[in-house]
Amino acid sequence: MQLNILSNNMTDCKTNQATTTTIIMINNTLAIESIATHPDFRHLASIADISVDLRYASPHNFVGRDLYAPVDCAWLHQHAAQSLERAVAWLKQERGDVSLRVLDALRPQRVQEALWAALQGTDLLMYLANPVRGSIHSFGMAVDITLVDLSGHELDMGTPFDDLSERSHPAKEAALLAKNELTAQQIRHRQLLRDAMRHGGFVGISSEWWHFDCGDRDLVRSEYTRIL
Ligand SMILES: [Zn+2]
Repeated sequence: MQLNILSNNMTDCKTNQATTTTIIMINNTLAIESIATHPDFRHLASIADISVDLRYASPHNFVGRDLYAPVDCAWLHQHAAQSLERAVAWLKQERGDVSLRVLDALRPQRVQEALWAALQGTDLLMYLANPVRGSIHSFGMAVDITLVDLSGHELDMGTPFDDLSERSHPAKEAALLAKNELTAQQIRHRQLLRDAMRHGGFVGISSEWWHFDCGDRDLVRSEYTRIL
């Protein structure tokens, strides 16, 4: 077992006295409780011109309860945060009337395990990364995201976030349009979201219109710090 102990010398703003924080990392992992002390991670509040509504930090998710409390999960790896800023800049230039709303960002491994347990025995497991392999969310390198208009209303994407049905699958949009299960406008909204995220450096997936990974998934799993 690899054990890394990092020491950060930090200055406490209130007392102006130097304090030392020790971060204990095992096999390149870090407890969410220590994330604010790790230089690789950025809080979502540091990203301008987005809104944040973390659904797993509320009862408005498919489990029906807050999975994050009392922990603050409004974090991303700095690489994903920079990519998101590029997506924001592109969208601002292209469209002054819509902006990005983050629905999920950093999802600790312990929450991934709780979701995995909640979906056992259902055919919905295909929508979730096996916690043994790990979700890219748990590295702060994935976001679930949508678009909102100037009054803060989410654009119609054809399904709500976490609608675990084929209507959420970007790969099936042409067939769903042909069957009148999605409208051309709903697909245009999704395409605008994909265009913005692609300009930032994110890559979408075939089964969820709201999910985007930052960079190569295998590289993230092998090189980045997993948050427990
Ligand atoms: Zn996701």
